[in-house]
Amino acid sequence: MSDLFVDLTAPNGRKYKQPIGLFINNEFVGAKSGKKITTINPTDEREIATVHAAGSDDVDIAVKAARKAFKDPSWRDVATSTRGGLLNKLAKLVEEHAEVLATIETWDNGKPYSVALGEDVKGVVDVFRYYAGWADKIHGQVIDTTPNKFAYTIREPVGVCGQIIPWNYPLSMASWKLGPALACGNTTVIKAAEQTPLSILYLATLIKEAGFPPGVVNILNGYGQEAGAAIATHPDVDKIAFTGSTATGRQIMKLASVNMKNITLETGGKSPLIVFDDANLEQAAKWAHSGVMENSGQICTATSRILVQDVVYDKFVELYKEKIKLISKIGDPFKDDTFQGPQVSKAQYERVLGYIEAGKKEGATLTTGGVPYKDVNGKGFFIEPTIFTNVKDNMTIYREEVFGPFVVISSFKTEEEAIDRANDTTYGLGAAVFTQNITRGHKIARRIESGTVWINSSNDSDFRIPFGGFKQSGIGRELGEAGLAAYTNTKAVHVNLSGC
Ligand code: ADP
Repeated sequence: MSDLFVDLTAPNGRKYKQPIGLFINNEFVGAKSGKKITTINPTDEREIATVHAAGSDDVDIAVKAARKAFKDPSWRDVATSTRGGLLNKLAKLVEEHAEVLATIETWDNGKPYSVALGEDVKGVVDVFRYYAGWADKIHGQVIDTTPNKFAYTIREPVGVCGQIIPWNYPLSMASWKLGPALACGNTTVIKAAEQTPLSILYLATLIKEAGFPPGVVNILNGYGQEAGAAIATHPDVDKIAFTGSTATGRQIMKLASVNMKNITLETGGKSPLIVFDDANLEQAAKWAHSGVMENSGQICTATSRILVQDVVYDKFVELYKEKIKLISKIGDPFKDDTFQGPQVSKAQYERVLGYIEAGKKEGATLTTGGVPYKDVNGKGFFIEPTIFTNVKDNMTIYREEVFGPFVVISSFKTEEEAIDRANDTTYGLGAAVFTQNITRGHKIARRIESGTVWINSSNDSDFRIPFGGFKQSGIGRELGEAGLAAYTNTKAVHVNLSGC
């Protein structure tokens, strides 16, 4: 049906068929809600496509499909190696369709094409392959107690999983959630962010082609307050996995309490990056730049709060400014030399500009940037990379997550002060420490309250290593072996051997 697919030509000339329906039971269908959402190219503010948007009735249909697939014929009982095989096949299909997936991601989200292809889509392949490998290696334990008892554990799938993903890494976030959920034998209803539904709807076609049975993966576009909330409150959804803002994470936690869903949340951050006077300053400036300026600063683990030891502060700020000049080429994300594309939407663009105004009003020093960038085509949600210095710990721009190409740099005197101030936040997602002193690096890694600590790097995460937050940055872990825990229930079986 023409209402469910459109023929598109992307700005890089690539032609492809874009699904615009809801993906339920391995078919694209129109939304019962009758609602649609138009998605915008953030580079030139033009419309890309109008996509069906799920309401609560559509969510209910998708959940029923997922429940049926979980039970009958039972996805959970499919041989574990077969599940792994399907994930491997999906990885191969993603690899084969990498260029069209990266094109859609760049068009809809605004991230550079080279990054979408070389990092995001490549990462999706890595994650699916990694969890394909785990599918037949998930097992319980035999636990010795007394000769009268044989006790063992089974790791069972949780059931129907609701998965709500954000717009900053649409395909990556889908893979982080689908990979472990499917490896463990769950079925899913996954909701795209309303700003960036297109790449995931294309991924749906590959899920079907890989051979996953109908209903195992259902993909919906829709607004958070409607489709997202309907998933979070649905009584037949067993688990919610969410990535997004802390405020929305809190709401989802409340909504999910209706039937006490198992939850994992990956939320916001204001991650510190500490530079000691013994650091390799060139190396520190390089990572401090990429750790917040990549992806237009739309990174939940962005090391956006930099603390530099006072004796090297001025030198570090100079080096950082040089990195911006050398690396932060703003432009059309389809151009090879572009480092920074636009913010994803007008709302995000205005939000970042709002923080720039707040920083100025609060009396911090605007050292670089702080203005929109209009030289690409006179349009688009571009903002110049922005540094504020002389930032005080009580300022809004020091405390709140900005989610843009925006960094605050402050100075400290002693190691104790650096640790205390790094931890003085409601968040705890990431942190980075730059020092040549190996003892100091490891000691500080233990004392920092965050799910990840990088020593002498920033934001070089890896699919084999767990990822998640302390404090209000989240609950549970994704990626690595730890990511499996989010998608299995441990059942204990006691067998009486006493004969009485
Ligand atoms: P942002 O504010 O940057 O758009 P959100 O954290 O609100 O980020 O969005 C992340 C994801 O959560 C998106 O898929 C969005 O649709 C969804 N979402 C937003 N609000 C709700 C809600 N009340 N219930 C469920 N999902 C929601």
